[in-house]
Amino acid sequence: MAIRNRLYPASRQLPVLQEHCAHARRVWNLAVEQQSWWWPGRGNTPPSAERCRQLTEARRAEPWLGAGSSSVQQQALRDFDRALAAFLDPANPARKPDYRSSRGTQGFAIRDTKAQWISRRWGEVWVPKCGWVRFRWTRPLPDRLGVARVTYDRAGRWHVSFPAPQPPVTRQRTGKTAGVDRGVRTALVTSDGQHYRAPKISDRQAARYLALQRRFCRQRNGSRQRERTRQAMALIAACTADRRKDWAEKISTRLVRDNDLIVLEKLNIAGMTRKSKPKPHPDQPGVFLHNRARAKAGLNRGILASAWGTLSQRVRDKGEASGVRVLFVDPRFTSQQCRACGHVSEANRDSQAVFACVSCGHQDHADRNAALNILARGLLLAAGEPVPAPAAGHAALRPHQPAQVAAGTTRSVA
Ligand SMILES: [Zn+2]
Repeated sequence: MAIRNRLYPASRQLPVLQEHCAHARRVWNLAVEQQSWWWPGRGNTPPSAERCRQLTEARRAEPWLGAGSSSVQQQALRDFDRALAAFLDPANPARKPDYRSSRGTQGFAIRDTKAQWISRRWGEVWVPKCGWVRFRWTRPLPDRLGVARVTYDRAGRWHVSFPAPQPPVTRQRTGKTAGVDRGVRTALVTSDGQHYRAPKISDRQAARYLALQRRFCRQRNGSRQRERTRQAMALIAACTADRRKDWAEKISTRLVRDNDLIVLEKLNIAGMTRKSKPKPHPDQPGVFLHNRARAKAGLNRGILASAWGTLSQRVRDKGEASGVRVLFVDPRFTSQQCRACGHVSEANRDSQAVFACVSCGHQDHADRNAALNILARGLLLAAGEPVPAPAAGHAALRPHQPAQVAAGTTRSVA
């Protein structure tokens, strides 16, 4: 994990930081472009050391590049190497490193980071060619700081993050186990019937965001007004994201503190980030409805999807640091399977909230039933027993899914 602190550069330091961001981005983009020339049979792209040598040459030839910090630029190349290695690792779902835009979040890395206190709440970090930059010091930092990262987000905020090991959650063995299901509406439901609500965007904020969005579309591209509107939108998004992160931290700590074994759904990133479907007009074919309720639902869907991603990542990190076993299982059909008799049918879920088995008559809260199924699969996995393929032969099992994926289910983190 990383300890992220808000950075408050002085106005004279801003141009230097922005230039570091621009250099890191351009060097990264050059590396992406160089890699894009690779073709099977054309030989290898230059290795890392050769790329660094080329950077030195380029710095000599191009004064604008040479004026920047060589350590910031070299670090951008190292970041690229790491991103490429992650992409080429078959066990890692990382995407291919791609061009970075000047419109997204900007940032650069500092090597051999030095930080010092200036008062009880404030510290400063050394940035090459810039000097000491003040930041809000919120929690103790490790002795060796390694590579720190400075970022500038779309809402106009600077942060510095220091890598730090995940501290263990203080806990005692409880002997309890929990399966966790994504609830139908907003909640997270555990197998013992706990519901947790993720923060959503408030009605007021959503209305403002959508109004800003409409204004943004009408404004002239590149105008100062438009930039101001964009920043206001980004600020709303950033505040919502902060609340969501805070929620994920609290809930993951609670789950890890209270349970010795936690079973979560294996994530389907592609499914989570799917775009919302267009809503056709009921009477006029070819016309699509657009109303604010749908738009707000879209905002919330995105927030909930990423809240889930953050949460499962944090549960995994904290579990690993605190000796709690966290398992991931295939979530397919967990919402349609009866906990009592194992019967799988869509008809079991006549209503969204209630689970009623058509075979044995067992009734339960729908999300808790699913969480119990997830827990049961996790317990089988923990005992080293094979987890039966969920609903093999069931009509809803998509035929293009290979059998091992259905049966093998899992990645485990001890
Ligand atoms: Zn049943």
